Amino acid sequence: ADIKDSGAPAGAAVGLQSVAHGSGLDAKLQVVDENQRFTSTLDEHMEGWQLANAGFNYDVVAVFGSQSTGKSTLLNRLFGTKFDVMSETERRQTTKGIWMSKGQDMPVLVMDVEGTDGRERGEDQDFERKSALFSMAVAEVLIVNIWEHQVGLYQGANMGLLKTVFEVNLGLFLAAKQKGKGKGDTQDKTLLLFVIRDHIGATPLANLRATLTADLNRLWDGLSKPEGLEHTTIDTFFDLDFVTLAHKLLQPEKFESEVVELRKRFQSQQEEGYVFKSKYHKRIPADGISTYMGTIWDAVVSNKDLDLPTQQELLAQFRCGELAASAFDLFSSLLSAFPPAPGPGKLDSSLGARMRDAKSAALAAYDEAASRYHAAVYGRQRGELVAKVHGALAPLFASQLKNAHKLALREYRVAIEQALRTEGYDFARVVSDARQQAEKRFDDEAKKVVLDESGWSPEEERAALVEDMDHVAELLRKEETRKMVAVIERNIKRQMAETVEYSLNQPSEDMWDKVLTAFKAALQKAEDAYLKKAKSFNCTQEEMDAALQLLRRRAWLALRSKLNEHTAEAPMLVKLKLVFEDKFRYDADGVPRVWKPEDDIDSIFRKAKESVLELIPLYSEIKPADPANALELPSSAGTTEIVDPAAASADEDFDFAESLQLLSPSQQSALSTRFRREADAYYVEAKRSMVSSTAQ
Ligand code: GDP
Ligand code: MG
Repeated sequence: ADIKDSGAPAGAAVGLQSVAHGSGLDAKLQVVDENQRFTSTLDEHMEGWQLANAGFNYDVVAVFGSQSTGKSTLLNRLFGTKFDVMSETERRQTTKGIWMSKGQDMPVLVMDVEGTDGRERGEDQDFERKSALFSMAVAEVLIVNIWEHQVGLYQGANMGLLKTVFEVNLGLFLAAKQKGKGKGDTQDKTLLLFVIRDHIGATPLANLRATLTADLNRLWDGLSKPEGLEHTTIDTFFDLDFVTLAHKLLQPEKFESEVVELRKRFQSQQEEGYVFKSKYHKRIPADGISTYMGTIWDAVVSNKDLDLPTQQELLAQFRCGELAASAFDLFSSLLSAFPPAPGPGKLDSSLGARMRDAKSAALAAYDEAASRYHAAVYGRQRGELVAKVHGALAPLFASQLKNAHKLALREYRVAIEQALRTEGYDFARVVSDARQQAEKRFDDEAKKVVLDESGWSPEEERAALVEDMDHVAELLRKEETRKMVAVIERNIKRQMAETVEYSLNQPSEDMWDKVLTAFKAALQKAEDAYLKKAKSFNCTQEEMDAALQLLRRRAWLALRSKLNEHTAEAPMLVKLKLVFEDKFRYDADGVPRVWKPEDDIDSIFRKAKESVLELIPLYSEIKPADPANALELPSSAGTTEIVDPAAASADEDFDFAESLQLLSPSQQSALSTRFRREADAYYVEAKRSMVSSTAQ
């Protein structure tokens, strides 16, 4: 598959010179200077050449060859570059180093390697080796520039240069292989394009090709190859191609037309003999080329073992790291533009969408450039970026959930309270409806803010919500129960008041039978009312038992307090006096007595008094004449099992037997003393009235 993207080549539309001038950059750049230092401005130049964002849509070509063989001249003709050319009149040496420029109207980085030919200059071959290594690492196509008359001169300087190129390449291959990262059979190849200059035309290209190929093979065979590579051929690592050019000065027109033809082979994929086949591409994304070349050169200069797969992985780490950082910066700026949090219990309904947008914007920014790098590195750094983004968003997620929880709980409470105000509600149904609504509300809101792959879960918060709702329902249920019991209790009190009044004012043997019978009937009615309601409250049997027990106790205590009112000393005296008067001052027919001397005041008085005093024990204890009418309630001590808040008084000690006692023995004797005194007064008054009537 072709690694290049389709579409217009980068930088095609704008002329190089204008761009370079506009940005204040030179059209050509000395990437490695005469002191073997690597440039610090390649990035800027890549921008200026409009190649920085080209991805894989660019190519690299370098030229090799003896000094003054017209290399720079050729490049300038082919690519419209402005490399220095040695003046014909001055024969001045051009500056040593590696120069780079962009091909005019084509996304091609052209490298002009000056001073490679140390032999001719009598210098050491150190720079030759270094520049060969560097060129092999970055260029897809190496143009080898030679004179036609040098072809066949096996001992020529060119052969030394090519020997270096071959050796360097073997070294690179071996280093990659030792790291276990060699590509084995699918070894990346480099194209060696031999440009044979000053071709007179007598010897056809085919012959030149054959001669050169034979020489190259001889050269290859003569190399001392590392173990395991003994049987490799040139073809394992290189494709060879050959082209001739006429003499520039003697056949200028032919030279020009041949250059134009050759130029096409660098320009168009459709062209026969197109040189930049994708198999030659070094797969360094354009935005990483500056870093890559820089580190390669540093390794070359410091004579470190250079293995390209490791370099590419390091580059990937570095660039993906940079890209992830800038993607995160983008994300951070989007995040800081989020509107402020809406405050507790309020929801930001667009938060989820904004979180998603910010995240995908960051990832898109990262992916665009980073996806071109080493897949594993790209993937790993992407994972880290995603984790960082999620980390930054997690607090928003958490607080949104908290707010959703608060909101849902509030709506839940309001819904229940509203429903409880309607007549004949079914508590259990009201609660379950409200709960369903609240859970849906929460789930809907949670769904909006759970991001893919985040591993975020709303479950914990949801569980807390459910717990809170249970709690609220429980409180409301108890409150409702309490109100209900209070109403029932009030009804009992009202019903009992009259019976008590009537019965206690008419003391009789079956006085308590009447009171208790009426009480039991009222209590039964109350219990029925409670049970009917309790069903809709989802009460458990224990709760109902407890509530009933409470209801009975409170009803009983209410009755007791009513009875206490009636059996206090003053009302008791009134009652006793009424009975006494009835017996003493009225005769059996109910006619008021007028005392006459023959009347036996003493015995009438004694009888009346005795019969009234007999009533005091009757009032003192709630005790029916017929034991069948007796009431039995369980007693309790300390806290009871009742968990109902209506049980406000339920944890008081309660002794039923004791509660049957209305007047203690001392109260009874105090009462009888008071009564005797009052009765005595009647007696004296009766005596007096008889004396006065006798005296008349
Ligand atoms: P470089 O050192 O290989 O880059 O060579 P230059 O491009 O600087 O050219 C060196 C000299 O060769 C200059 O004086 C050019 O005019 C001359 N020259 C360039 N092209 C040709 C050519 O095709 N044939 C001949 N004979 N001379 C050329
Ligand atoms: Mg030159």
